[in-house]
Amino acid sequence: MADSEDIFLRAQHRTFSGLTEDAESKWTGPFFFIQAADPQLGLMKAWKEGDCEGGGDEWAEEVELIRRAVEAVNQLRPRPRFMVLCGDLVHAMPDTPFREGQERDLKKALKETDPSIPLVFVSGNHDLGNTPTPRTHEQFCSAWGNDYFSFWVGGVLCLVLNSQLFHDASACPQLKEAQETWLEEQLSRASSSAEPKPKHVLVFQHIPLYLKTPDEEDDYFNLKREVRQSLLERFKRAGVKAVFSGHYHRNAGGLHDGLDMVVSSAIGCQLGDDAHGLRVVLVTDEAIVHRYVSLEQLSVGGGGPRPPGAAAGMKEEEEEEEEEEKPGKPGKISVFLVLF
Ligand SMILES: [Zn+2]
Repeated sequence: MADSEDIFLRAQHRTFSGLTEDAESKWTGPFFFIQAADPQLGLMKAWKEGDCEGGGDEWAEEVELIRRAVEAVNQLRPRPRFMVLCGDLVHAMPDTPFREGQERDLKKALKETDPSIPLVFVSGNHDLGNTPTPRTHEQFCSAWGNDYFSFWVGGVLCLVLNSQLFHDASACPQLKEAQETWLEEQLSRASSSAEPKPKHVLVFQHIPLYLKTPDEEDDYFNLKREVRQSLLERFKRAGVKAVFSGHYHRNAGGLHDGLDMVVSSAIGCQLGDDAHGLRVVLVTDEAIVHRYVSLEQLSVGGGGPRPPGAAAGMKEEEEEEEEEEKPGKPGKISVFLVLF
């Protein structure tokens, strides 16, 4: 990544700078990444006051949670290969009063992420509007980069999708069509024998395909059955191992027929009993292993030896020449202790 590059605009031309097929299509051994969802600045106050439409005029609590998350992620060793935020970056819908301030403060908090950890953004219903239009789509892309794209990390192919186009594309049918065409190309490429062959294929989107079972009833928090079934079939045919999502503000999901639907709770407002947190995802030769970790656990999980046999082959990073440890500053955290 060039020094001058905007860290929020790395998803361009349907790929992600630094994580391209040319640079990252080879499997080089196990690694891990962070998946998080719904920082949704503004929802905590709006929810408390029971005014999710017009409320949300303060978001200091969410900013603090994001700061804690970033600080803890920065301390992980080895470092995560990337951190993906699965949508609802902010609560204020496009063209509503608090939108600008929320986006500005989110970016300010995320800027503290260590520059070696790329930030990948996924669009949610609050980012694009429940019924996106060409205008809200354009606004999202100029703030956060492409809404759908693919990238490679250590031999793994990752597809980032815009699930609003699956949910309601009535005001932007051409955008839906364009994503469909692109997705079909990606999926047939993934299942073909063309080189490079991805070690795994992963999908990231905001709205889960389902919350518990593939044939559950339609709900505010899942995709409609018809859309869901069609995507499930296409994903399975292409060998997609896992779909990571948010939107539900609770942990859910399940493994069915070889496809793991992962629904992660929020960094921000909780709608169930989960703690504010994020998901640590370990990618090995054989499998995708993940665990939701509260910010609390993540911040204190550090130190100590690596458990024997854990993530064999995953290299501990050489200690860099970095700034000396200061009193009061959190120490390095072994990701092996967080995961196992
Ligand atoms: Zn949502």
